[in-house]
Amino acid sequence: MNVVQPLIDLQEVDGRIRELEREAKDIPRRKALETARLAGVNAALEIAKNHVEALQKRVKEDEDEAERIREKVRTLKMSQPGIKSNKELQQVLIQIESLEHEAEAAENRALALEEDERPTLEGRVKDAQARVDAEQGGVDGLVSELDQRLAEVKAELDSLAAERQAAAAKVEPRMLLYYERIRTKRWPAVVLLSEDGVCDGCHLVQPPSVAQLVKRNQVLVPCTMCGRVLYRDL
Ligand SMILES: [Zn+2]
Repeated sequence: MNVVQPLIDLQEVDGRIRELEREAKDIPRRKALETARLAGVNAALEIAKNHVEALQKRVKEDEDEAERIREKVRTLKMSQPGIKSNKELQQVLIQIESLEHEAEAAENRALALEEDERPTLEGRVKDAQARVDAEQGGVDGLVSELDQRLAEVKAELDSLAAERQAAAAKVEPRMLLYYERIRTKRWPAVVLLSEDGVCDGCHLVQPPSVAQLVKRNQVLVPCTMCGRVLYRDL
């Protein structure tokens, strides 16, 4: 049996822990991305709705203006019978005609907005709403899947903690100490020394004396370059 074997077993457990930890850390980020995407789609819908509201406001303003002018015209027409001089009557008639043109212009503006712009803007709201509807379900589903996966990952990590403790207990204490230190800087921390005496971690060719030590398989032998624990398949 390889003297480093308990360390290799421990590293295998640690490898699984590392992967799960990375996944657990990544899940909130993925959720945030999904939520942000949905927020973007919702914002687009809000903007489209605002454009329709703004249009309605402009239509209302033009209609109100037309109504104000029409009211003025009515007042002028009612004053007509009381006018004595021809000149004054002429002026009032001119004024009425001009106001009627203005009212018509305002009404035409309102109509043009209704006929030309409203269909386009309402079409955009419809499209944006369709996108929201399409995305909402997908995002909700994905977010709940991610929540579920996170719970699974946490449960797996809990059970791996016990497995790790058992694996670590089988490693010779000084070897364990060395491994714990090196694994925070180099991963994997325990690597194969090739037939040609090359460290599988940093690819440096080891001196023959180191290769000999590894082959003898009695003590922990670190790579002279990167410090990873070397072993040979025996
Ligand atoms: Zn190395």
